[in-house]
Amino acid sequence: MRLVIMGPPGAGKGTQAVVVAQSLGVPHISTGDIFRANVSQGTPLGEEAQRYMDAGEYVPDSITNAMVRDRLSRDDCDPGFLLDGYPRTLEQVNELDAMLRSDGRAIDKVIELTVDTEAVVQRLLNRAQEQGRSDDTAEVIRRRLEVYFEQTAPLTSVYRERGLILEVDGMGDVPVVTERILSALSG
Ligand code: AMP
Repeated sequence: MRLVIMGPPGAGKGTQAVVVAQSLGVPHISTGDIFRANVSQGTPLGEEAQRYMDAGEYVPDSITNAMVRDRLSRDDCDPGFLLDGYPRTLEQVNELDAMLRSDGRAIDKVIELTVDTEAVVQRLLNRAQEQGRSDDTAEVIRRRLEVYFEQTAPLTSVYRERGLILEVDGMGDVPVVTERILSALSG
């Protein structure tokens, strides 16, 4: 199973991705988590990524694609993977296709979590208070949503044309949404 999970910031993507990946026995690959780990370790990649993240902007494709290429080449991805937060631009979609194609692989399904945008903003503001993420101020949250709707939401139509989209209602308690995702995947 080679999967992608998509949805606006605050849709609960990360939370669902962890549980779903575990239940399918594939690695959960979150580009946001990899960037954050690099920021906290003070690596050159982290230093480069941080200024984009703090502004709510996307890290440049060249940096992000190289990082994902490296991660997907590891042995633990042989049985599959769940990508969370990637691809986010058309160039990333194309690059992901190319990386997989070179090994005779392809994406099997794309889970699209749908949510009510107002509820999402509230969820992000709550998370900002609980976790103190530096990219979770009201202004940056608004910018992240804008960037998502401009650059990433349109990508679902690329995957829809390929017949890969599984649309899942992301509103509700975590276990309820997990169950919806797992049943969509097995259906
Ligand atoms: P996330 O935790 O997925 O919301 O990602 C947090 C931040 O990391 C984003 O707001 C971006 O600045 C950066 N980021 C994560 N994934 C990507 C990606 N695929 N392309 C560009 N930037 C990304």
